[in-house]
Amino acid sequence: MQQREYIGLEDQYGAHNYKPLDVVLSRGKGVWVWDVDGNKYLDCLAAYSAVNQGHCHPKIMQAMMTQAEKLTLTSRAFRNDQLGPFYKELCELTNSHKVLPMNSGAEAVETAIKTVRKWGYTVKGVAEDQAEIIVCDNNFHGRTISIVSFSTDDNARAGFGPFTPGFKCVSYGDAAAFEAAITENTVAFLVEPIQGEAGVMIPPDGYLKKVREICDRRNVVLILDEIQTGLGRTGKLLTEEYEGIEADLTIIGKALSGGFYPISAVLSNTEVMNVLQPGEHGSTFGGNPLACAVARAALKVLFEENLIENSYEQGKYFLDGLKQISHPHIKEVRGRGLMLAIEFHPEVGGARDYCYKLKEQGILAKDTHENIVRFAPPLVIKREEVDQILDAVNKALPVS
Ligand SMILES: *Cc1c(COP(=O)(O)O)cnc(C)c1O
Repeated sequence: MQQREYIGLEDQYGAHNYKPLDVVLSRGKGVWVWDVDGNKYLDCLAAYSAVNQGHCHPKIMQAMMTQAEKLTLTSRAFRNDQLGPFYKELCELTNSHKVLPMNSGAEAVETAIKTVRKWGYTVKGVAEDQAEIIVCDNNFHGRTISIVSFSTDDNARAGFGPFTPGFKCVSYGDAAAFEAAITENTVAFLVEPIQGEAGVMIPPDGYLKKVREICDRRNVVLILDEIQTGLGRTGKLLTEEYEGIEADLTIIGKALSGGFYPISAVLSNTEVMNVLQPGEHGSTFGGNPLACAVARAALKVLFEENLIENSYEQGKYFLDGLKQISHPHIKEVRGRGLMLAIEFHPEVGGARDYCYKLKEQGILAKDTHENIVRFAPPLVIKREEVDQILDAVNKALPVS
């Protein structure tokens, strides 16, 4: 079949809830993917950071095959021999006390929301149904009704009401605005350490530290959504490490499986998680043995192959390279680890066209908004491959 036939099938039979770049991929290895015609591309999106370990990592694949032949799903009605070791390894790596496993990122965010509401009523003493959670402008935490209820993106919300109450929005990066919004009913602050979908928005230095201090002082649970920033993406295991803080609840997903399987988790550093009692929350597939075996292997690969250090090093080199590009259309380049972006002047826009230009150069990247292009390749990337991206970035810019 031709690429346009595959695209035709998607258009005819599928819901149109995405507008993908028109490239039909059929194979991947490491940082590379191939389309059905055999064209090779360097993947600079890595499935929104779910493929940090690189496409089809052999060790994760082996763990998945081995486990798939033994036991895939028990439900949590029974126990399985992968869940306990998965909990222990994840807690030791992230310095956490407790784990609650789910599947998608959005489910883990919902889990955190339920947990802090319950904590608010049973521990903090908030009056029934009055709990408030503070979030930030331009947040992205997923697509469920409750989560889009506190989105500030019209596209995500319009037409989907009525919305879930109990959320309050403050401007991102402004610790004073956060503190001013706290009331006696505030149970938690939910925030991304770097806003990914908003276009790799990096808050001012010291923001998370201040937020941590305010949460401690005002008895508010700090929830960091590290679904995209976590697991090595920004050059540390968790982005909170840059400010030497620890969240009370940390949400991870995406790269937790290295792209093989939907696995997410809420990590708890405090006793917050203890408010959940049997029967109050769960998921048929959450914590299944296949997921746990895959996640154990995916975590092991991050450390055994020094992918977190590599993300830090290559990310620095990549950002330095971007900074050396001078072009009148570029407003700013920014990044931390291998989470980078080029922002064009808003009046120029053209991010999507630019992504098609990059595709001609063998680079797949994703536009976010009209004028921002994000670069987030798998963390297995080598320096020569970063050079290849930088070269393509230059060549794809319009002659000025
Ligand atoms: C991707 C993402 C989510 C949602 O994860 P899904 O697996 O798509 O539900 C939530 N928060 C952040 C920061 C994300 O990047």
